[in-house]
Amino acid sequence: MNEKPEKFIDENGLRLDGRRIDQIRDINIKIGVLERADGSCYLEFGNNKIMAAVYGPREVHPRHQQKATRAIVRYRYNMASFSVEDRKRPGPDRRSTEVSKVSREAFEKEIFTELYPKSAIDIFIEILQADAGTRTAAINAASLALADAGIPMRGLISSCAVGKVDDTLVLDLNKDEDNYGQADMPIAMSTDGKITLLQMDGHLTPEEFKDGLEMAQQGCRQIYELQRKALLDHYNNTQKEIIQDASTESTTEEESTEDPAILNNVPDNGDISNDNEINEDIPDKEEEEGISDENEDDIVSDETEDDTHE
Ligand code: UDP
Repeated sequence: MNEKPEKFIDENGLRLDGRRIDQIRDINIKIGVLERADGSCYLEFGNNKIMAAVYGPREVHPRHQQKATRAIVRYRYNMASFSVEDRKRPGPDRRSTEVSKVSREAFEKEIFTELYPKSAIDIFIEILQADAGTRTAAINAASLALADAGIPMRGLISSCAVGKVDDTLVLDLNKDEDNYGQADMPIAMSTDGKITLLQMDGHLTPEEFKDGLEMAQQGCRQIYELQRKALLDHYNNTQKEIIQDASTESTTEEESTEDPAILNNVPDNGDISNDNEINEDIPDKEEEEGISDENEDDIVSDETEDDTHE
C-alpha cells in the first residue's frame, strides 16, 4: 500500500493523478464481449477492470425463490484474488455480500420485472483489477450488459463516487484518496435523475453532503453520455455487420446462380434429362467405391481401435 501523501491537491488545484477536483477517470467500454452470456460488458474505469455478464430472463433455481408476479434480480459481485495488491481470499465475504445487495437494489426498480413473472435475471460481476470505486464501475458495466441482453429497463443506471480529501470535495476517488481521504460517498442514478444507491463512509457536513451529491450527479450524467454512446456505437457496428453479411450472402447467391448448369439443373456435360433419369444414371456410390458391408465393419473396428489407443 502507498504511504499517505502529504497533500492530495496541489497549488494548481490538481489532484495527484493530474485530474481536476470535479473530473472523472477515463472510461473504456466494450459491449457484447462474451459469447455465452445473454448480455455482457467489459469496462475500464481508470485502473479498474470489470467484466459484467447478464443471463435471463431464465428459469429460477432454486424454485422456491421464484415470484408469481415478477422476475427476481440476482447480482453477484466477485473480486478476483489477483485483482488487488494483497491477494484476496477467493469466494464471497461480508464486503462482497454487501456490495451485491446494494447494487441489486440499485437496479431492481429500474427493470420492468413485472414483464417476466416466475423468472430470474442474473447479473455476474468479476472485478479483474481493483483501484477504488469498483462497485460504481461494476454498476456502470452491469447497466450496459443488461441493455445488451435486451432486458427492458426504464433507463440506464450510472454510478460514481464523491469524496473529501484535504477538506475539499473531489469526484471519483482514486485508490489513495479512498484509502486516506476523509469521506467516500458512492451513488447510482437513473437516467431520469432518481438516486438508486447512496452509501457513505467518513464524515461530511450537511453543506458538503448537498454539494457532494450535486457533484456526483454531474459525474453520473457524464457517465450516462458515455454509456449511451457506447451502446449506439455497438448497435451501429452490429447493424453494419449484419448488412455486410447479407450483402456477402446475396453476392455469393448471385455468383452461384450465374452458373447455368446449377440454374437449370443441367449436368456439366450438357445432358438434359429429368431428375429421375439423372438419379437412375448415377451409380450407387457404395458400389462404385467398392464399400461392402464387410469393409464398413472394418472401418468401424479400425476407428474403435484408434479410440482405444487414444
Ligand atoms: N480493496 C482491497 N482488498 C479488498 C477489498 C478492497 O485491496 O479485499 C481495495 C480495492 O482497490 C477497492 C478499494 O479497496 O477498490 C476500495 O474498496 P471499497 O470497499 O471502498 O469499495 P469500492 O470503492 O471498490 O467500491
